[in-house]
Amino acid sequence: MSAQIIDGQAIAMEIRLALKQEVEALKQKGIFPGLAVIMVGDNPASQLYVKMKEKAAQEIGLHSVVRLKPTGTTQEELMREIEEMNEDPRIHGYMVQLPLAEPLREREILEAIRPVKDVDCFHPYNVGRLLIGETGFKPCTPLGCITLLERTGVPIEGKKAVVVGRSNIVGKPMAILLMHRNATVAICHSKTRDLAAELRQADIVVAAVGIPRFITGEMLKPGAVVIDVGINRLPDGKVVGDVDFVSASQVAGWITPVPRGVGPMTITMLLKNTVEAAKNQCKI
Ligand code: NDP
Repeated sequence: MSAQIIDGQAIAMEIRLALKQEVEALKQKGIFPGLAVIMVGDNPASQLYVKMKEKAAQEIGLHSVVRLKPTGTTQEELMREIEEMNEDPRIHGYMVQLPLAEPLREREILEAIRPVKDVDCFHPYNVGRLLIGETGFKPCTPLGCITLLERTGVPIEGKKAVVVGRSNIVGKPMAILLMHRNATVAICHSKTRDLAAELRQADIVVAAVGIPRFITGEMLKPGAVVIDVGINRLPDGKVVGDVDFVSASQVAGWITPVPRGVGPMTITMLLKNTVEAAKNQCKI
């Protein structure tokens, strides 16, 4: 079997085009949706992500602000920046680029973000609403994964889904979104006894581990839908996922590539959440 490719890049661009039109329509009504990104330090990977977010925001017509803070910025200085963003009426959504280097206290910073502007969905208020199935922001990467799954047309309800990884930003919220769509969900992690046995039962696999080509074709159920969240840079500079694409695509029914899979969807969902935030704050 040769899997069908889930083209995250193409789907992301389609959604961005629709968002651009929506932003245009909002501007006609005098609403100018704004997104801000705050970054501390000079981590090259973070700098790249921030640039990509800024570019994507500008392309769909958002008012885009990037606040670059030098290494050594104190907790108090960062908290003041957060307060400014909370009060700025031109900013409808904003995020702090993670990770924050010590001694900055990440949790305290994330909890200071006003929940209505928390477009990354990291504030405990929004995480709690997600857990109990209330309306509100959904975290960008899991929301992107669900969108890709839905685009395959393969029903999620009643399916066995295995999420590999239990981080707060990917694995856990992913499992919740799948459960809310009536999948039967298992969450696997580094202490799982027999990962291959779990995976071989899975109709849907979401890999968020951070180990290059960790999940191979022989671990999969034939026909499974495989969503690969992993972004791993090899010593030769090549970027690969957590799934061994070559062997997995011989067994799976559907699979996301890396790059051009989940990655472009994450930024797209950030844009989508920002447009939602603007509409909510302007009562549209
Ligand atoms: P974390 O490091 O926070 O979590 C990794 C998870 O994998 C942990 O739960 C860990 O288990 C589990 N794990 C580690 N080793 C094994 C193993 N041998 N068997 C089973 N599970 C294992 O990573 P993230 O969730 O932040 O990211 C995961 C991947 O996704 C990374 O490659 C990251 O770069 C990528 N990513 C991609 C994004 C995108 O936009 N496409 C966005 C965010 C992340 P335990 O809890 O027991 O330690």
